[in-house]
Amino acid sequence: MTRPEVRAALAQDIAPWDNAFRAVYADVLERVLAIAGGIPGQHVTLPLQGCGHFIVESAIRTFVPAGRKILIPATGSYSDRMIRLAREAGRVPVVLPLAPNTPVDPLAIEAALDADASISHVGLVYSETGSGVIHDAEAVGRAVHRAGRRLIVDAVSAFGALPFDIAQQPETDAIVFTSNKCIEALPGIGFAIAPVHRLRACVGQAGSWSFDMADILTYSEQRGATRPRFTPPAQVVAAFNRALDFFDAEGGRIPRLARYTANMRVFYDGMVRLGLTPCLTPERQGPIIVNIQAPDDPAWDLQRFVDALKARGVLISNFFNTPDPSFRVGCIGAITPDNMLVAVAAMDAALGDIGITRREAACP
Ligand SMILES: *Cc1c(COP(=O)(O)O)cnc(C)c1O
Repeated sequence: MTRPEVRAALAQDIAPWDNAFRAVYADVLERVLAIAGGIPGQHVTLPLQGCGHFIVESAIRTFVPAGRKILIPATGSYSDRMIRLAREAGRVPVVLPLAPNTPVDPLAIEAALDADASISHVGLVYSETGSGVIHDAEAVGRAVHRAGRRLIVDAVSAFGALPFDIAQQPETDAIVFTSNKCIEALPGIGFAIAPVHRLRACVGQAGSWSFDMADILTYSEQRGATRPRFTPPAQVVAAFNRALDFFDAEGGRIPRLARYTANMRVFYDGMVRLGLTPCLTPERQGPIIVNIQAPDDPAWDLQRFVDALKARGVLISNFFNTPDPSFRVGCIGAITPDNMLVAVAAMDAALGDIGITRREAACP
């Protein structure tokens, strides 16, 4: 997932209030604002300690008033999480049903918004990590814009690879992501990019001091933009800043997406060559994560497969997020198509190690 130089940036003592760290912190906020197409003064980066769920909850709490409705297209396991986060925060999720593995249709968004004027927001998972399908955040945004509503984008597994320009999408309340996916750093902090005028309009409605993005802005205005509100994971921030150096050195988002796409193609084709069945057709398959259906063989056991693979130097998730049994492989991180070829060969051998003879899925 990460380069050794990025991991090395963790191995230092840092005082979060020290001026040397404050420069690093300021750098990070500015660099991610630029990646999102944010305009200094109009948009702001809001850092929040913790994992992706925290930053998604924070966006919902900050921008959707308590008791109000947020339309969430049912893209997969991560939209399910957004639905639960909204409900438990006392907001009202309205689920837009979606056929499995299909991209969200902007016309369906528009129809759902037209049908219910009390929906204030749409929450979209841009890259649905559960299925591997990419949804068109720009087209969905246009539909939200036409309907005069607001958009929250979970771009946790998209940001830094897939395009998004907040200055061109004025319907956006927040686009959120974390340190540990396409920027290729370590977990520990999330970020939102949001319009300043919207944060000012939403002061005091989060119902949580910890998760209130408007309060993060207010604090930075009162105490200085480079002074973190509450103790940040300073080493994680330092490593993230180092990872951004490699992001820049690679040429930024477009070459990064090209590398991930090449990773995905090599891996996807390799799986087909091995006789395995990808969950998605090539047209639907996004560049971030590939799910492969479990082989229809009584010897299949995901944990045993993961262990056999690990013994061969390749580590994959020991869980899946698809409705039917599968295994999942990320195409992101500090890896290249050559690494993917090595992974394909290791999988070929690991299937043999655990005694799989029938590789295709039960119902491909
Ligand atoms: C990884 C991910 C998250 C956040 O997961 P955490 O485990 O809370 O960091 C949220 N949304 C998507 C689409 C993700 O891929």
